[in-house]
Amino acid sequence: AKGEGRNRFHYFTPSMQRDAKYRMRLIQDLRHAIAEQEFELYYQPIVGLQQDECLKVEALIRWRHPKRGLVPPIEFISVAEETGLIVDIGNWVFQQAARQSALWRDRFGVEVQVSINKSPVQFRDEGECFDTWVSLLNNLALTNNNICIEITEGLLLDGNEAIAATLERYRDAGIQVSLDDFGTGYSSLAYLKRFKIDFLKIDQSFTRNLDSQNSDFTLCEAIIVMAHKLGMKVIAEGVETEYQRKVLAEAGCDYGQGYLFSRPLPVEEFEQRFIETTVM
Ligand code: C2E
Ligand code: CA
Ligand code: CA
Ligand code: CA
Repeated sequence: AKGEGRNRFHYFTPSMQRDAKYRMRLIQDLRHAIAEQEFELYYQPIVGLQQDECLKVEALIRWRHPKRGLVPPIEFISVAEETGLIVDIGNWVFQQAARQSALWRDRFGVEVQVSINKSPVQFRDEGECFDTWVSLLNNLALTNNNICIEITEGLLLDGNEAIAATLERYRDAGIQVSLDDFGTGYSSLAYLKRFKIDFLKIDQSFTRNLDSQNSDFTLCEAIIVMAHKLGMKVIAEGVETEYQRKVLAEAGCDYGQGYLFSRPLPVEEFEQRFIETTVM
């Protein structure tokens, strides 16, 4: 009874996740959650910093646990990856995001590009996934960059030629590609030339450091110039202050995402604040 209070806000704390018993239960619960569709997508706008670029949004998964309430991704994504359950979860995320984008187009007449996170694990049985995804997009007439997949640097490391070819196929099918968390992984700049990537997302740790004395400004600026030379657009993550927005805009950054503009929102709220206002 005493431990319960401590665990109220975290369904599975990191130390619990290492505990085999809790891990078993988490896996069981995740299987159930997939079958019962207990997941939800929250939407966070990606805002044009230079001019009003077209509407972009990142879809972020939440788990509406019947007993524990809303569980954030940090508590279940890594276990889902280790067990392969991320493949089913990722397919659900894709379908949900695509249907939502089609719904916004049909109801409000706006094209919204929805970005989804795709784990490296999901690229392992790529053939099947690709065909299913592309046929859904064709059915919904969403082949004009309506969906963007966010990948991480780790994928570029182990994948090499096969991954390069896969990303190329996605782009040919009208799906764009973002490189997430840029600057936190191992990526050498050489990867950026080999892989066709549309957007580079500067990790929030760089954005945060923009306010400090030993500022990362030079680094951010260099990343932006380099990305533009390689034909990529740049999104800064974790923009929380007006100062960060201003500095990034002056450095030529194309988009910003972060609490300054909005937290990730449930679909109805996102619609009210960012879609209905665009149309009216
Ligand atoms: P990410 O892809 O880097 O997503 C950005 C995270 O930063 C989100 O956390 C978002 O809520 C948070 N964030 C946004 N703006 C700010 C800000 O201004 N300040 C701060 N401090 N944080 C901000 P969230 O939603 O908890 O997601 C965490 C991670 O979980 C994501 O990081 C992503 O790696 C993973 N994830 C989320 N949804 C999915 C999914 O559908 N599939 C997969 N494979 N991974 C997902
Ligand atoms: Ca992301
Ligand atoms: Ca990120
Ligand atoms: Ca991240």
